[in-house]
Amino acid sequence: MADAPITQDVLTIPRKLPEGPVNLVGLTRAAMREALIAHGTPEKQAKMRVGQIWQWIYQWGVRDFDVMTNLSKAYRAELAEKFVIEIPEVVSKQVSEDGTRKWLVRIAGGHEVEVVYIPEEGRGTLCISSQVGCTLTCSFCHTGTQKLVRNLTAGEIIGQVMMARDDLEEWPVPGAPKDETRLLSNIVLMGMGEPLYNFENVRDAMKIAMDEEGIQLSRRRITLSTSGVVPEIERTANEIGCQLAVSFHATTDEVRDKLVPINKRWNIETLLEALRAYPRGRNSERITFEYVMLHGVNDSDEDAHRLIKLIEGIPAKINLIPFNEWPGAPYTRSSNNRIRAFADIIYKAGYASPIRKPRGEDIMAACGQLKSATERARKSRAQIAADAGLG
Ligand code: SAH
Ligand code: SF4
Repeated sequence: MADAPITQDVLTIPRKLPEGPVNLVGLTRAAMREALIAHGTPEKQAKMRVGQIWQWIYQWGVRDFDVMTNLSKAYRAELAEKFVIEIPEVVSKQVSEDGTRKWLVRIAGGHEVEVVYIPEEGRGTLCISSQVGCTLTCSFCHTGTQKLVRNLTAGEIIGQVMMARDDLEEWPVPGAPKDETRLLSNIVLMGMGEPLYNFENVRDAMKIAMDEEGIQLSRRRITLSTSGVVPEIERTANEIGCQLAVSFHATTDEVRDKLVPINKRWNIETLLEALRAYPRGRNSERITFEYVMLHGVNDSDEDAHRLIKLIEGIPAKINLIPFNEWPGAPYTRSSNNRIRAFADIIYKAGYASPIRKPRGEDIMAACGQLKSATERARKSRAQIAADAGLG
């Protein structure tokens, strides 16, 4: 098992089901134009119609064609017959003592994924999922114990953002000032799944989030976290242009092979090479190195020194994540003193080394704790231990 190739052999459910209306949510502008034309909108008008419908959906949060008053009544009726504006359905919502919200949402096929909102002073971050489960099996990650069921569509990815805006009641009202402080100001692709194994859908969804005539989030406010899918890193820069975070977690290939098994395919050196080439729009843009603090595994002073050496020359910040425990996890969290000592070494070397404060722990919303309990396909404890090289 240890050397089994890591494959990505899942299908994404097509956006357009063979029968029934087409969901407009998640279509790129070009795809929406095609869809309108295919359903009878004259080609000459199509671009303008896309602009109008786009604004209703993404700027104002409208889900009902009847509200689109700059379209004729007849055209609205036609649209309502052929299209729908659909986002994932909220199954449950939990609110933590610290204000963190966690929603379980249902997508086509009855699958469920989790979405987390973390309020902060003057801003707020939405953590969204890109897959149901994950094909990768990082041994410290709860999601990794859940077999991948499928990739989310672009509509299901941007739909999580729209759902959160609904719940936060944050769609703008006509005439409101534009520069209000947003509750949902940042997006992180750090929920369930490996975003770079669902590249096109993640890209299309983030393009929608960044679109000037819609949700309007700057590319600097979107962070994609990857376990290290090296061939897609350059594409992320070219086709999405968002900020990058990398689940680094270890300073030797031997340890990283166990923690982040994709390391067997693309090792630390190969990963660092790709990160060195990741272009930055501004000097202030740095790559985030995520580093989970596991007691006795990757948290020694030597690890901290090795880490500094490895990332030399890469504009970086190192985000230390105290391990969030989950039932059956094969690791424990490093002590606060150990984490502080580790952070100190990094800080003294000139890097920002924030320690990520676990949020929403009481509702199992912290990093790496997400997993839809409803999914039946699970790996056994023995399998988790074997994958971690502990068996
Ligand atoms: N699949 C992507 C994004 C989702 S995970 C990735 O691996 O980067 C988001 C972050 O949470 C990653 O850095 C991941 O390694 C980390 N994480 C996973 N399980 C965790 C846990 N139990 N405690 C703390 N962080 C965890
Ligand atoms: Fe998948 Fe990321 Fe969890 Fe690894 S850490 S199993 S890549 S979700």
